[in-house]
Amino acid sequence: MMSASRGPRPNVSTIRRRGDPVLARVARAVPADVLSAPAALAVMPVTQWALSVGRQGPGGAGAESDVAHREVSFADAVADLHRVLMDFRDREGFGRAIAAPQAGYDVRVIAAFLDGTAHTLINPTIIRKSSRRRVLWDDCFSFPEDLVRVARHVTVTVRFHDTHGRQHEWKDVPWAVSELLQHEYDHLDGILAHDIVRPLTIQPTDASPRAEAARIVHRALQRERGGFPLVEGDTPPFIVVIGVISHRVRRQLPRECELLVGDELESPSHL
Ligand SMILES: [Zn+2]
Repeated sequence: MMSASRGPRPNVSTIRRRGDPVLARVARAVPADVLSAPAALAVMPVTQWALSVGRQGPGGAGAESDVAHREVSFADAVADLHRVLMDFRDREGFGRAIAAPQAGYDVRVIAAFLDGTAHTLINPTIIRKSSRRRVLWDDCFSFPEDLVRVARHVTVTVRFHDTHGRQHEWKDVPWAVSELLQHEYDHLDGILAHDIVRPLTIQPTDASPRAEAARIVHRALQRERGGFPLVEGDTPPFIVVIGVISHRVRRQLPRECELLVGDELESPSHL
């Protein structure tokens, strides 16, 4: 899992953490005329926002060259983004994709590594999504301590351009890729899982297995965080609300945590 002792290598940008303003910005699209001209695309300037003080990655302060606001070429930004992703995979053993804002870049790009292949998705758009959604615990390089309860469309169709200016469409991708792409796409719009958290509310009087699981997870979270308020309302019956848990609690209580996600929702799209 996440290591607090090892930071990123000096030649890759630091992964921005929740609280860094760049993660709340809507990233800039690549203009259509540049997209159709690969040579122009490669040298297009891209802004890399300064690392926000106090919110550095797991290794502490970022490298000197990482701290200042700067402009880099699109080709360099994309190469860096893929290095950040592969560096994370080397260190942590997982990670399938990263969005440009997570390395500070103001551009609508997702770098992905799926089935052994690196992909660069430029100006991705979700052009179709299932009405069916599924609830899961969402995790992220930018908030490695949290798991956030969110709902994602079971399948989506995504259109994007590659670095050669070619347009692609990934049609009705399977769930694992679908939830990943929705997560990364949200980053391009400055949205983190915490912004769309779908908390589970449980009446303590409820006798269902899920309510019992919620109470167990609730107690574990209170122990872990020193009793922070998870109970809403000032008159009985109080409601237990669970939207964010830690990896540690999930590992301690896998079955209970799993009972709190997995819902299939059939509802009109909200995106
Ligand atoms: Zn993320």
